[in-house]
Amino acid sequence: MRILVDMDGVIADFEHGFLEDWRATYPDKFYIPFEERNTFQLTDQYPEDLKALVGQIYCEPGFFRKLNPIAGGIEALWEMDRLGLEVFICTSPLKIYQNCVIEKYIWVEENLGVAWTKRLVMTRDKTLVRGDILIDDKPVIEGADVPAWEHVLYDQPYNRTAEVSHKRRLTWANWKEVLWEVNSVAGHAQSQKD
Ligand SMILES: [Mg+2]
Repeated sequence: MRILVDMDGVIADFEHGFLEDWRATYPDKFYIPFEERNTFQLTDQYPEDLKALVGQIYCEPGFFRKLNPIAGGIEALWEMDRLGLEVFICTSPLKIYQNCVIEKYIWVEENLGVAWTKRLVMTRDKTLVRGDILIDDKPVIEGADVPAWEHVLYDQPYNRTAEVSHKRRLTWANWKEVLWEVNSVAGHAQSQKD
């Protein structure tokens, strides 16, 4: 079974990295506490006059490189590997890619080891990547193709919207149970066809 794992909001803590830098840079400006975040795109929840400044924070050199891992994520990737699952990291770079692309590679090397950089798939269109499961915090993932993977939503406060209530949710605390369930359902569907 091939598992594609997203980076930001799944193994790399983009939201807390942003908040930390935002509050350090603009201590007197408005901010949204993590638990109150309710839009997938960070800038969507900030007022018009702050959107450009918000965007600048995560385009700064060093932003992506120094993101903390999300608790349990690194361990889960190693455990998947030990269990014989084929794991790839599947991430979309920012449109302003200058720092983000290289720093995603560095992040993977620093947090998982250089061998994992060979398993990094960087694309703006994840529907083109083949896999059985995509673990991603983005509620709706669309692109040029019909995806081969089932999208399992990595649970975050900002993606708890009604439109995706039908999708399975996973965290690094329950990932084994959820993946087992997805796999056994998929296996059952296959045996019905045979
Ligand atoms: Mg993400």
